[in-house]
Amino acid sequence: MKILLLGKNGQVGWELQRSLAPLGDLVALDRHGDGGWIGDLADPDGLAATVRAVAPDLIVNAAAHTAVDKAESEPDLAFTINALAPGALARAAATCGALLVHYSTDYVFDGRGTAPWAEGAPTGPLSVYGRTKLEGETLIRDSGCRHLIFRTSWVYAARGGNFARTMLRLAVERDALSVVDDQHGAPTGAELLADVTAHAARMTFARPELAGTYHLAAAGETTWHGYARHVVEFARARGVPIRVAPDAIRPVPTSAFPTPAQRPANSRLDTRKLRDAFGLVLPDWQQGVERMLTEILPNSN
Ligand code: NDP
Repeated sequence: MKILLLGKNGQVGWELQRSLAPLGDLVALDRHGDGGWIGDLADPDGLAATVRAVAPDLIVNAAAHTAVDKAESEPDLAFTINALAPGALARAAATCGALLVHYSTDYVFDGRGTAPWAEGAPTGPLSVYGRTKLEGETLIRDSGCRHLIFRTSWVYAARGGNFARTMLRLAVERDALSVVDDQHGAPTGAELLADVTAHAARMTFARPELAGTYHLAAAGETTWHGYARHVVEFARARGVPIRVAPDAIRPVPTSAFPTPAQRPANSRLDTRKLRDAFGLVLPDWQQGVERMLTEILPNSN
């Protein structure tokens, strides 16, 4: 099997290089491309040409304009990368018969209520990022290509910067921290996304009727405040010289940190469809976060 991976150096893309490798011959590209192949999502026509040249059986698109606040001031670029490029990939996939795997987001919802969102729930993005990601989904569906769209939330990885690293740095430097406590969701590891992708893609080759849109996130739920507390207390128990006292990690509303893009308050995703279709158990969010922390903390054992 021939696999084309786009966005190979992002959080999810990096883990996909590992999880997809056993499935076949992997052509992995970043925005700079390789050997004449274009991997820049700002160039949808170039991407389509890459698909024609590589002739893959499986295309996995892990690239996206993920700078949620920046997208508010560059909507055209976000639209090209998050919508037009996936659309071009999808039409090229339809032509060559490839399965397209793509990632979308809880930000396609408006965040009202407290119930976890099912795949068929009405969408209502609050931001340019959410709108452009939703438009990407629509263009993929409209192309008629065989696809898997995984909507996920609060993605982290050991590699590169992440929320946990920021909280750890601040917890060592400061006496008190304020963390948002009115956004609810599940931190989801790039490793989990990559492993589920490989499993689901294999199963979808064997059973094409499994193609479609799925919610994929770790089990359980928390807030950014709960997430921060978990990270800090785990590090404290591991001997990291944490300065902030447990009760000095203060819950604050989203309005305490105004941002250009509005975030949904309810990012809970109902993953039943995915678990049933692919026979999966999704681990609690704490499991992946602790694994990531064990990797990034000094002198962890
Ligand atoms: P990252 O931001 O870690 O990675 C995105 C990748 O896309 C980067 O490697 C970036 O490259 C690449 N990219 C950006 N612009 C282009 C371009 N024009 N051409 C080619 N590559 C480009 O994101 P994640 O790995 O976290 O996200 C993976 C998927 O999951 C995305 O579809 C995202 O929308 C979705 N998602 C992510 C969430 C999150 O919390 N991060 C939550 C929900 C969904 P470079 O480094 O060169 O900029």
